[in-house]
Amino acid sequence: MSISPEVRHFSDRHIGVTTPADIAAMLDRLGYSDIDELVDTAVPAVIRKAEPLDLPPARSEEEILADLRAFAGKNTLKTQMIGQGFYDTHTPPVIRRNVLESPAWYTAYTPYQPEISQGRLEALLNFQTMVSDLTALTVANASMLDESSAAAEAVLLMRRASKAAPTAKAVIDANVFPQTLAVIRGRAAALDFEVEVADLTQGLPEGDIFGIVLQQPASDGSVSDQSDIIAAAKERGAMATVIADLLSLTLIKAPGEQGADVAVGNTQRFGVPLFFGGPHAAYLAIRAGLERSLPGRLVGVSKDAAGRQAYRLALQTREQHIRREKATSNICTAQALLAITASMYAVYHGPAGLKAIAERVHAHARTIAESLRAAGIPLASDSFFDTVVATVAGRADEVIAAAADAGINLRRIDADTVGISTDETTTAAHVAAVAHAFGAKTAPAVAVGDYAFPAELVRESDYLTHPIFNSVRSETQMLRYLRRLADRDLALDRTMIPLGSCTMKLNATAEMEAISWPEFAGIHPYAPEDQTVGWRELIADLEGRLIEITGYDALSIQPNSGATGEYAGLLAIRQFHLSNGDADRTICLIPASAHGTNAASAVLAGLKVVVVKNTETGLIDIEDLDAKIEKHRGELAAIMITYPSTYGVYDADVREVCDKVHAAGGQVYIDGANMNALVGLAQPGKFGGDVSHLNLHKTFAIPHGGGGPGVGPIGVAEHLRPFLPGDATGTYSVADGTPVVSTLFGSAGVLPISYAYIAMMGADGLTQATKTALLSANYIASRLTEHFPVLFTGNAGLVAHECILDLRELTAKSGVTAEDVAKRLIDFGFHAPTLAFPVAGTLMVEPTESEDLHEIERFIEAMIAIRAEIDAVIAGEHELAESPLRRAPHSAETIIAGEWDRAYSREQAAYPVARLRTDKYFPPVDRIDGAFGDRNLVCACPAPEAFE
Ligand SMILES: *Cc1c(COP(=O)(O)O)cnc(C)c1O
Repeated sequence: MSISPEVRHFSDRHIGVTTPADIAAMLDRLGYSDIDELVDTAVPAVIRKAEPLDLPPARSEEEILADLRAFAGKNTLKTQMIGQGFYDTHTPPVIRRNVLESPAWYTAYTPYQPEISQGRLEALLNFQTMVSDLTALTVANASMLDESSAAAEAVLLMRRASKAAPTAKAVIDANVFPQTLAVIRGRAAALDFEVEVADLTQGLPEGDIFGIVLQQPASDGSVSDQSDIIAAAKERGAMATVIADLLSLTLIKAPGEQGADVAVGNTQRFGVPLFFGGPHAAYLAIRAGLERSLPGRLVGVSKDAAGRQAYRLALQTREQHIRREKATSNICTAQALLAITASMYAVYHGPAGLKAIAERVHAHARTIAESLRAAGIPLASDSFFDTVVATVAGRADEVIAAAADAGINLRRIDADTVGISTDETTTAAHVAAVAHAFGAKTAPAVAVGDYAFPAELVRESDYLTHPIFNSVRSETQMLRYLRRLADRDLALDRTMIPLGSCTMKLNATAEMEAISWPEFAGIHPYAPEDQTVGWRELIADLEGRLIEITGYDALSIQPNSGATGEYAGLLAIRQFHLSNGDADRTICLIPASAHGTNAASAVLAGLKVVVVKNTETGLIDIEDLDAKIEKHRGELAAIMITYPSTYGVYDADVREVCDKVHAAGGQVYIDGANMNALVGLAQPGKFGGDVSHLNLHKTFAIPHGGGGPGVGPIGVAEHLRPFLPGDATGTYSVADGTPVVSTLFGSAGVLPISYAYIAMMGADGLTQATKTALLSANYIASRLTEHFPVLFTGNAGLVAHECILDLRELTAKSGVTAEDVAKRLIDFGFHAPTLAFPVAGTLMVEPTESEDLHEIERFIEAMIAIRAEIDAVIAGEHELAESPLRRAPHSAETIIAGEWDRAYSREQAAYPVARLRTDKYFPPVDRIDGAFGDRNLVCACPAPEAFE
């Protein structure tokens, strides 16, 4: 073959199967002569889009970086002293490059397979330990999506866990941030319970209360003793949540020490850039006894088959994958990568370093306060940590303009009130400039170590005493710790991750580069509009492209995960019905095959879930659908369907399903997590959907980060546009819908990734990616079905972009479970496919377009080798309990152990196929016993002796 002089497009590098020979070989196996013939057969004509996508021509990597520089150049980078929940910070370069910008960390998946996730699980356990230490509460989870939604989750937790009457209300202190109040109110309106806002310094209001919410430091910066009001609430049978700033807790008595049941907050200022609002890891911590009500992921300590300590996700039976509409929350993707970054910041600085940063921040705030006081400017409080709120009758705009001239943003609270927040990056020069903007003289710098809050509030207890926070001091140690943890894990930088429904495609380096540029990363979410022109242009451009791809009329980028998109989309449907006077429309039909978040989100949106059956061939059971529609006709709010279905097939009667629901007055929610099977071929907004969420962290190349960040934008038809999520700060009147997170654009910081992906692929590249995803999935299905039957197929026996391998019959014959296969794949160096979803006893395989044929063959080879091992069990050559399958995976320590008494050889354990001799991943532990960890719940770092 001659080398062609033609320039390669980005799409040729994004798509793995590109040589004509490979494509022909795969098509040949499937019996098609060209890829379009395959696609035309698999995808029902009734949903096909006739014309190509109308998108700008594809850009090269060099061009896209220049385009992104141009957007960045239209932002104005100032010193951010706005505060209000977001504070500038120095991301230690060793952490920026080796976590945030390292594919070993950012391309990893959620640690459901704990044996190949010990590194990120340790980092997340460090995060939990850091949060529970600083808040002085027993258990913290492995991150929440943002501070405001975490506060809303805390309110729901108190409602579930308190013994108050069902009619009781939540009471929120008037001094919490306005964005948090707006998000809490939205949740309460959906679930129809009362929220009262009260000045809690004046005591509790009358009536039944299930919980109170306080903030420390409060919105006006004040720091106060909250123990009396918390005690009074408890006396009345209520619970108490404190929204607390973690850095301040190095100096101030912790929420747990003041009696709080729950603490929540943002960990952004622990080394995570402002990112124009997100992604950031929020946290939620609870006192002992509330573990089973905890929302979100929780890492716990357990042991492996050899009795070694090992980490894994704990108490998963609370989660929506198992409990569906009874789950504690709909949170699936959270903020793992940002939580890991924040935990590493704590490892890097240690308790003394964090305290020193807090004292410096505090000293600068005190100097500002002294300067203003000396100029006769009244302050909201004399007891504060980092935020000083000044009253300047009618002069707020003038002061803010003067500060802006000096390159500093301050917080405009109203025409008379200005807030100033100091942070890790604040210098004496900033302090002087702020004083000057107020027309004040800079007071002499105050001594570090004296505090502006009452002595009884000074923290006396220790925190971060675990060795991990006290042993990594030099950069060499830090670098090696990060590398050591990363080496324990399997991420996309080492292997295909064939997880069905998760679309683990390439996260190209050119897509990732821009996110840490200061002109993007350093912008405060509440910066004035004229400083965020570039950001807003980029976002509007991306929204336009996503609208073209989905066929909807409007789109909101705000939801910061797929499940948050579901919640926002269902709220839009609910508000639409309410606006038509249809208050009774509260039933949400959900097929049995749906993802667990669908049901959990419906409940959060105030809807009642009615399950629709699936047929044996995996379609929606039309008879059952008709019966359910008939039964609930007057109350039908919506149906939630996933397309192609979670069974990985294109349902040819999807239009009929949509029409039936519409005819009954219901709306159609199409879960767009499987959009990778549609882009360029069909548009949910055109084949029956009223609203869909997309997962930019699946289809549009944002990396999974080990369990977040994500972006779950919703596209809607015109009639739902007014109900798109609004702005929680009330600054922008973009839409009237309920805000779901703190900031208008949610996880804005990672949007350049999807923008770059779409712009570099162009219409042809995107469509070719979809076709290749179909080709590869069908090729795998065809190669493996004789070894593991493919459960569901659509037209002509084809699947969509993923396939379900049914192990149930083999399990019945051999006892070998789908889980055994998943664990044995680790010995072959693979991350397992999706296990037990959407059907128990199966594996769902999604190769994506990014895998090349060589890697696909490697996977097929592994699966066929595993099938032979299953046959050996069936033939009685191995006892199940003694088989390499049940004893998988095999750590190096186990294989090298002096005595080898197993029924199979060490070679078979470690090198079941020859190529592993040169490239071998050894899991650091053997199979982990999850149940043991749930019975003996430990969710903070165990003492190092425990590992000996
Ligand atoms: C991934 C997924 C979701 C949830 O998305 P998150 O971002 O994890 O909240 C919902 N539905 C389906 C079908 C999915 O695959």
